[in-house]
Amino acid sequence: MNKLPYRITLEEKDLPRKWYNLKAVMKELPPPPLHPATLKPCKPEDLKPVFCEKLIEQEMNTTDKYIEIPEKLFEFYRMIRPSPLIRAYNLEKVLDTPAEIYYKFEGTNTSGSHKLNTAAAQVYYAKEEGLTSLTTETGAGQWGTAMAMACAYYGIDLTVYMVKVSAEQKPYRKAVIETYGGKIIPSPSDTTEVGRKILEENPGTGGSLGCAISEAIEVALKSKNCRYVLGSVLDHVLLHQSIIGEETRIACEKFGIEPDIIIGCAGGGSNFGGLIAPFIGDRIAGKNKIRFIGVEPASCPSLTRGKYAYDFGDTGKTTPLLKMYTLGSGFIPSPNHAGGLRYHGMSPVLSKLYHDGYIEACAYEQSKVFEAAVSFARCEGILPAPESSHAIKAAIDEAVKCREAGEKKTIIFGLSGTGYFDLTAYMSYNDGTMTDYIPSDEDLEKGFSSLPKVD
Ligand SMILES: *Cc1c(COP(=O)(O)O)cnc(C)c1O
Repeated sequence: MNKLPYRITLEEKDLPRKWYNLKAVMKELPPPPLHPATLKPCKPEDLKPVFCEKLIEQEMNTTDKYIEIPEKLFEFYRMIRPSPLIRAYNLEKVLDTPAEIYYKFEGTNTSGSHKLNTAAAQVYYAKEEGLTSLTTETGAGQWGTAMAMACAYYGIDLTVYMVKVSAEQKPYRKAVIETYGGKIIPSPSDTTEVGRKILEENPGTGGSLGCAISEAIEVALKSKNCRYVLGSVLDHVLLHQSIIGEETRIACEKFGIEPDIIIGCAGGGSNFGGLIAPFIGDRIAGKNKIRFIGVEPASCPSLTRGKYAYDFGDTGKTTPLLKMYTLGSGFIPSPNHAGGLRYHGMSPVLSKLYHDGYIEACAYEQSKVFEAAVSFARCEGILPAPESSHAIKAAIDEAVKCREAGEKKTIIFGLSGTGYFDLTAYMSYNDGTMTDYIPSDEDLEKGFSSLPKVD
């Protein structure tokens, strides 16, 4: 029997040496980011005080379909990649489905998720540019962990503004970041003007991602040889994550796998955007009919219930305006939500593709997502991250539809990370205290009312 192995890995000689730049193949581009003060399209100079130059160049690149992965960065990728594409034989059996299911598992590195792919790239370019330190924020902690690993490798100082409640609730993430030499400051803090102001107004606050972003940007602007980095949403982040899609495409070609459906969880959209990049490029060129499904939490439904509008990237309303599906920068996701995926907006590239009908989206409540996570863990062995489990849930539903219709389809989904750091959420699912929250239309209206008037 010519059965494919469980774990399909690529040999080093087959590893991708280039990223796939989706914007070079889109029929229509997403509208440009706007300067928050002038509402005119941002120029590279506007971004230079905050971001690394090379990353700004990549952010604005709409012409090169492939962008070379620099040799010294490839050396890092060799250490953590390829990630395995795994045939879910056991899940197929449990579901009794004729569908073939595969997943691309990004959780094998110590930081536990795909975020290291872009962290390494961003830190590499910072080093090349002669910068000596970087700042960023982290909510759940995955991004801070990935940045700490990359900074340790390239020898760059890192300051992470970690949302105060997360720093208190996730001591193990904090421990990993500090082990790799990252400096953690619970946000809001008294180290920045914006932090001091927030503390004065709200002494007991547990912080928020939006506030941590504002603190990290302030420090980057005021420090010598320092810039700020972001782990999702932006076009250059999707570009770096296309390594996931390129590896998947190469493996599919090599092993004769022809996907009918590709699924990914979508928070800011980077792992899903990266996974589908080369496939959707072919779809735009009329070379395949793959269905692409982005999956989000019902508690933070930017694609399925948001508006396609210009909005700020942060709660402090300081960033450039991005045209994206958004719940409004003033939308506050429910605190009971277990995983990440709680960002109010969605990558402008993915938003445009969704708007133009190339991708679909769906949303699930977290108890359904954890039910899927547990059945997956029990048969496939891997304990999935809560974020990734949204994709598992959608893949299971599609496989069940195949069983009911007697159709043999090939499904690939992105398993963006491991669940080792999310055991508190699993504990609450296991002891039955996990609750679901779906915002009402009125809740959403409150968020929409924070949208800037642009159009
Ligand atoms: C951060 C994170 C996500 C969500 O971010 P995207 O930019 O949408 O990919 C998904 N899964 C895991 C494991 C994460 O850490």
